[in-house]
Amino acid sequence: MKICVLGLRGLPHVMGGVETHCEQLFPLMKELHPNDSFTIIARKAYLPENVSEHHGLQIVSLPHARSKHLETITNTIYGVLYARLVLHADLLHLHGIGPALVAPAAKALGMKVVVTYHSKNYEHRKWNRFARVVLRIGELCAIAFGDRVIVVSQCLATNLRRRFPWAAAKIYFIPNGATHVSAVKSEICFGDDVLARYGLNGKKYIIAVGRLVPEKGFHDLCQAFKAADLDCRLVIAGDADHRDEYSTRLLQQASETIVFTGFVAHDALQRLLQNASLFVLPSYNEGLPIAALEAAVAGVPLLMSDIEPNRDLGFRSENYFRTGDVDDLRYKIAQDHELYRVDRDKILRQYDWDLVAAETAKVYSTVQAYVGRRKTGSVSLKHRVFAVGFGVITATGADRCLRFLARGRGVVLMFHHVRPPRPRQFAPNRVLEITPEFLDLVLTELRREGFDVIPLDAVVDRLRPGPARRPFAALTFDDGYRDNIEHAWPVLRRHNAPWTLFVTTDFVDGRGRLWWLELEEAIGRLDRVVLPGNGKVLDLPNRTAVEKQATFEAVYGHLRAGPEERLRAVTADLAAQAGLDTSRLAVDLCLGWDEVQILAREPDVSIGAHTLSHPMLAKCRAMTAMHEIAESKALLERRLGRPVQHLAYPFGDPSAVGVREFRLARQAGYATAMTSQPGHVFPDHAAHLHALPRVSINGLFQNKTALRALLSGVPFWLWNHGRVVRTEH
Ligand SMILES: [Zn+2]
Repeated sequence: MKICVLGLRGLPHVMGGVETHCEQLFPLMKELHPNDSFTIIARKAYLPENVSEHHGLQIVSLPHARSKHLETITNTIYGVLYARLVLHADLLHLHGIGPALVAPAAKALGMKVVVTYHSKNYEHRKWNRFARVVLRIGELCAIAFGDRVIVVSQCLATNLRRRFPWAAAKIYFIPNGATHVSAVKSEICFGDDVLARYGLNGKKYIIAVGRLVPEKGFHDLCQAFKAADLDCRLVIAGDADHRDEYSTRLLQQASETIVFTGFVAHDALQRLLQNASLFVLPSYNEGLPIAALEAAVAGVPLLMSDIEPNRDLGFRSENYFRTGDVDDLRYKIAQDHELYRVDRDKILRQYDWDLVAAETAKVYSTVQAYVGRRKTGSVSLKHRVFAVGFGVITATGADRCLRFLARGRGVVLMFHHVRPPRPRQFAPNRVLEITPEFLDLVLTELRREGFDVIPLDAVVDRLRPGPARRPFAALTFDDGYRDNIEHAWPVLRRHNAPWTLFVTTDFVDGRGRLWWLELEEAIGRLDRVVLPGNGKVLDLPNRTAVEKQATFEAVYGHLRAGPEERLRAVTADLAAQAGLDTSRLAVDLCLGWDEVQILAREPDVSIGAHTLSHPMLAKCRAMTAMHEIAESKALLERRLGRPVQHLAYPFGDPSAVGVREFRLARQAGYATAMTSQPGHVFPDHAAHLHALPRVSINGLFQNKTALRALLSGVPFWLWNHGRVVRTEH
């Protein structure tokens, strides 16, 4: 396999966490896989030689723009073209979320893409707003288009899996290593003269290491050090990539007691670390701080800011100070530095480059295994495009500029399950599930964005001609899940938000078929899925989470395209093969009559109909569709003793509902009926009250970015080319 590594400044001996990471990792990767070729793309400014070699790696220096903002992206663009056109690389390994901007291009050029996510660069203080927007889009490209995403810190991996649950299966946590430091023996250290060069005495100075950029927090350290007035010196080892206002101002602090060394070669740095009395890492932002690992291995006591990536290293609480709190830092550096000593051997065991290389090689092999397969991840292209689309809309501010056109009179939101997260790899129905915390965020955002949360009964009134009012939002929950009472209701009550529950009466009876959940359970248990079909047999391998996801999508799509009877028969058969007892599913998950009756009496809750058995109505015979629509209304009214005015069509997409159902719903006496066709509600919908669009609050996109995009209406407006009422039903 030909591998091209892109996104770092260069190696060897180029300062920086990413550069150290690559310098340690790739020679080991080459040792593990001597038959693979590894080419590192470097930047001319750091490695002027065109082509060089380092421990079996080929290093190619490519040009780039010299400005701080354009350096990375120009070099990366040259790099991706070079990788494809000159190297014919099979796999592109991108480092950092800025370089990940080229991930879609690399995919389009036919390469497999692995991205190592080192830190949330968009939180770095050196970037302006535009650069941050671009980096956020880079993050989305990494997640959406990377075949695999390696994350160097545990908290960052958790954060990404939470924000992008649809991509969770391809996100791997592999830390940085620390063992490279111990490989340098102090006796053969070439940096012997370094102490003398700066006039330093052993154990009489505090050291900090890193590039002179604001997020490293060296300004805090200088301030705290001056205030503490200690009988020792402060050494800051590192250079600025670009002479800017910040680094200039920082360097002006140099004095008798504060020493800036500029760039220090590895051996000399090692010597500086070994002789320091304390290492301080005052950063505001890190991935997994290699500098701290190096210090720990060098045996120097450690004090660091309490940002999450630093806390992830798992030292005792004494080793941390409050981020940005100069007083706290001043107090702590004035204590006996021996207090901050850490367990060096534990670090060496935990952060071993050999393990890092072995894990990375494993990730590569999973990518290779998928060469030629239809799907490479656990998420459909559609969802990847959505995620990037939402990101671009909010990052560019389109949600703010266009919402006055796109938001309409308001929006009907569609929810299903609301419950605490259940971490599991294979969860194809996750789209239908959000956490109570996210529901809380939805309601908070609605208020912040000026929406009136109104009952469904009030929607028709909002569509009448008249002066523009505040936008409305109506909240609807489909199917009648018990978690709606347990987890959603408390949140809704807290926000005084009225809501509508659409119940399927068979589910309330405890005998309906939640076949999409049966399918998930069955595929989760089976190792192989075989479906005899019209002429072609689907035979799907079904062992890993990624395979199971692909199987689910294939089977679900296949069944939804066919008739209702076949869908139910095949699902029942698969469930039987898997040894599932499906009879309890509705009883366990759905509300019973007692509970629905209690809810119906609540002033803030209205009960709507969601048919008797939850079929794809458009595929039923007219008599059956009529019965499902009209009888569910009649049955609910009988059982609840109050009128039922609203209907939600099961599934609600064009394959499951059409003009015949709109007519039937009107004839059955419903005031409104909801599809799941995505979109906001406009005055023109007054003529289409039985085909109202809804916006699904999708479990895959439980983040503010997606939410803001959805509430602005802009994604749907763009998707429909500015048309607001879709009539192709
Ligand atoms: Zn439903």
